[in-house]
Amino acid sequence: MKTIGLIGGMSWESSAVYYNIINRKVREILGGFHSAKSVMVTVNFAEIQELQFSEDWKSLDEMMIKAAKQLEAAGADFVVLCTNTMHLCSPAIVENISIPFLHIAHATGEKITAAGLKKVALLGTRFTMEKDFYKTYLFEHFGIEVIIPEEPEREIIHNTIYDELVQGVIKDESRQKFQQIIGNLGKNGAEGVILGCTEIPLLISLADVKIPVFDTSTIHAEMAVKWALD
Ligand code: GLU
Repeated sequence: MKTIGLIGGMSWESSAVYYNIINRKVREILGGFHSAKSVMVTVNFAEIQELQFSEDWKSLDEMMIKAAKQLEAAGADFVVLCTNTMHLCSPAIVENISIPFLHIAHATGEKITAAGLKKVALLGTRFTMEKDFYKTYLFEHFGIEVIIPEEPEREIIHNTIYDELVQGVIKDESRQKFQQIIGNLGKNGAEGVILGCTEIPLLISLADVKIPVFDTSTIHAEMAVKWALD
């Protein structure tokens, strides 16, 4: 079994989900006392959030490179960055390590393709929805067309992530707003929806939505197990 290297803490609410999934999945596959071999470098999210909001992606690149190198030095066989937004730093990470990097949009794109969908909606932080890195990755690697919510809805999603979900606050009224937004995206032609923020699955589950849901934390963590056991 390979050792999974996890960059966590963005936020720790979802890193805990990753840790849980990789261990459960290994036990499910191998049985008995088996669990995942892993190393996690976990950051202080306050520092990350401040740099994100001031759009200082250069400093964030440096922090992510440092974390990935720490994983490599600790014996990780590959790197899993447990957040969608911070994949903005993935080119810098890949350039600076010599072990493989498991891109979250790669795992998600494979799952969407396997489901036979071609046009999906993307929910996430403003950075993930509005910048090009995620949408372009899915289009260039999988030919998947990605649509995003209208501006007032993007504001609601972004604020809910930072003001509630990364702080472990789960509200029914936010769940209803997300359901309404996803319903609108479905009417605009989305065949499925990517929960492109690793905390959104804490709020919304498959059962809450009519169109197929792609939960990026589960998809990413399960693919990490596949890589570890291959
Ligand atoms: N975990 C979130 C994501 O998947 C948001 C927190 C962050 O900005 O890293 O995008």
